[in-house]
Amino acid sequence: MRPLIAGNWKMNGLSADAPEIEALISAFDGAMPEKIDVLICPPATLLGGLAAAYEDEGVQFGGQDCHSAPSGAHTGEVSAEMLADAGAAFVIVGHSERRSDNGETDAIVRAKAEAALRAGLAPIICVGETEAERDAGRAEAVVAGQLEGSLPRTDGDEIVIAYEPVWAIGTGRTPTLDDIADMHAAIRKIVGDRRRILYGGSVKPGNAAEILRLDDVDGALVGGASLKAADFAAIIRAL
Ligand code: PEP
Repeated sequence: MRPLIAGNWKMNGLSADAPEIEALISAFDGAMPEKIDVLICPPATLLGGLAAAYEDEGVQFGGQDCHSAPSGAHTGEVSAEMLADAGAAFVIVGHSERRSDNGETDAIVRAKAEAALRAGLAPIICVGETEAERDAGRAEAVVAGQLEGSLPRTDGDEIVIAYEPVWAIGTGRTPTLDDIADMHAAIRKIVGDRRRILYGGSVKPGNAAEILRLDDVDGALVGGASLKAADFAAIIRAL
């Protein structure tokens, strides 16, 4: 399985931050590792410019969300087709911040993932339990339910799953390595051998190597640590 390290810039980044990509490429002396997919998901405002400037440099670009319709009267929304047109190869769907801030249900996430496939993008479908659900011993059941409701009904090896425990996002806390391995093994049983499963939630240069060497962890979805080229480069190197 070809590993994927994806950076989610969230609502961060102005045009003045484009040099972070330059610095990332420079950290590898201008030659990004060939055996790893390196992806940056910047805000939609920067996507087209960054993709045009850097897509030939071994860095891929993606969106952070998309609408399920290809076009239409949906003020403020961006379709998967628009992201593809701007140079995206991937799109994150169902991030826990969108599930909580925007009330996105599994059915909405599935429609967005299906829209991504329709537009030729690889959807990165985020799933993960809350702390209360983990404490109640329901983490695997919750994630299985989210997958059941969010996975597109069509096949697609390009579909990527990101296991992101809600309580680990942006908190500096992570599950134990055993808990990550157990969850990834459970997800593997559901999604099969040909889809990548990323871990996300407070991945940093200091913990990346131990997480990325676990069975069934095919890469990482990185939030905060993707904003600084030096940290993101260290995570790629750990892989
Ligand atoms: C994320 O938002 O997808 C994420 C994993 O964030 P962080 O790495 O900052 O926990």
